[in-house]
Amino acid sequence: MGTVVNTPADALRALRTAVSDVNQAVSNGALAPLTKRDLLDFMAEFEEVRAMLSVTDHRIVRACDDSRLAERVGERSTSSLMAKVLRIAPGEARARVKAAELLAPRPSPLGPELPPVREHVAAAQSVGQVTTRQAAMINESLQGIETACPLSPGESAALEETMVGHARQFGPRELQACLHRMESHLNPDGVLPPEAVIHDRRFLHLVQRRDGSYVIEGSLTRACGAQLWSVLSSLAKPRPSDVTGPDLRSPGQRMHDALDDVAGRLLRSGRLPHSGGTPATVIVTIDHAALVRGTGFGTTTDGQPLPVDELLRLASEADVIPVVLDRAGAVLSSGRASRVATPAQATALYARDGGCSFPGCEIPPEWCEKHHVVEWIKGGFTDLDNLTLVCKYHHRNFQAAGWTCLMINNLPHWRPPDWLPGSNDPVLHHRIAHRSELYEQAA
Ligand SMILES: [Zn+2]
Repeated sequence: MGTVVNTPADALRALRTAVSDVNQAVSNGALAPLTKRDLLDFMAEFEEVRAMLSVTDHRIVRACDDSRLAERVGERSTSSLMAKVLRIAPGEARARVKAAELLAPRPSPLGPELPPVREHVAAAQSVGQVTTRQAAMINESLQGIETACPLSPGESAALEETMVGHARQFGPRELQACLHRMESHLNPDGVLPPEAVIHDRRFLHLVQRRDGSYVIEGSLTRACGAQLWSVLSSLAKPRPSDVTGPDLRSPGQRMHDALDDVAGRLLRSGRLPHSGGTPATVIVTIDHAALVRGTGFGTTTDGQPLPVDELLRLASEADVIPVVLDRAGAVLSSGRASRVATPAQATALYARDGGCSFPGCEIPPEWCEKHHVVEWIKGGFTDLDNLTLVCKYHHRNFQAAGWTCLMINNLPHWRPPDWLPGSNDPVLHHRIAHRSELYEQAA
């Protein structure tokens, strides 16, 4: 107390010193002689200090947002910037951005800043009485209630205050029970959320596991869900018993197979939108010798190895294009003749880059544009050694953010700008590095 601090950096340095002091003070059994009571008090007070730090976090996130820092350094959003620079999970970064939106004071163009949206939660947090987790639970519960029933700002604030009171007494589990009770009291019939809310919450994630299989997770709008349901349920009926016996598949397995059928049919129909000259197809990179021998592995655009025999089986059935990656690019090269990559080049690019080549970006190839590493206008050729896939966003922003793309060993590397801490050596997207290893092994 009473220390005069000038700048945020000074204050943070003072905090770092203070934390070192505390760590020093508690070392070597200094806590052991404390009475039970004192140790409990110490533990509780330390927890409060930890909780208070989130106020700083909200301010920092807010400042990043307000100054459009992410945009200026070539990142898609504040949360993706945080995930990269702070090395935290994207989910945690998004939660922190969301918390800052609700719990940091809001800038006002006309005068002094406005109080936070959730004023009571923020106030309790500033004295360390509500944890980050509890704050998130309250925010979510309030949002649910406000969506379902019209509340005046006064009613909403009173509700928030009551919830904060519960959070002062209870841990997450009991708090959740209290919040559920309040929700069902205010919204006894479980009023249906309006279409706009359902639309806002829509998402679909297709996440690949380490073993190559996928997990589906999502929330569909009423219309999308109904359509998908009618498509899949018609295809997922049990096969009638025949010479091979009854259909032993579980309902879940039949739904899966229906989806498999739908996707396969659509691919084979050739009616998917074209992307930069290459129709949506399964593209497998494979060494020519392996293909001729009929042994070894090819590599799909998402980096999965595919045995040659399976590839040949698929190839007769679906739009599978085996690409023989000729590093010299003799066939694929079209020199200066055209500005636009040929379908063969696009296919080879899909196979090599497998998506946006900007480090850390996971935008799939179908959504990418082709970038000339040496600009075409400055004499750069439209061939494989001078092209890379970059998503729309990175294509538009990498230059302003100070990144440069360069080809090393015919693979697209990215040199980081000076503002990024650490080495300035060119980086190769881990996906591309991995794929070229697979290629080398297959070869
Ligand atoms: Zn990208």
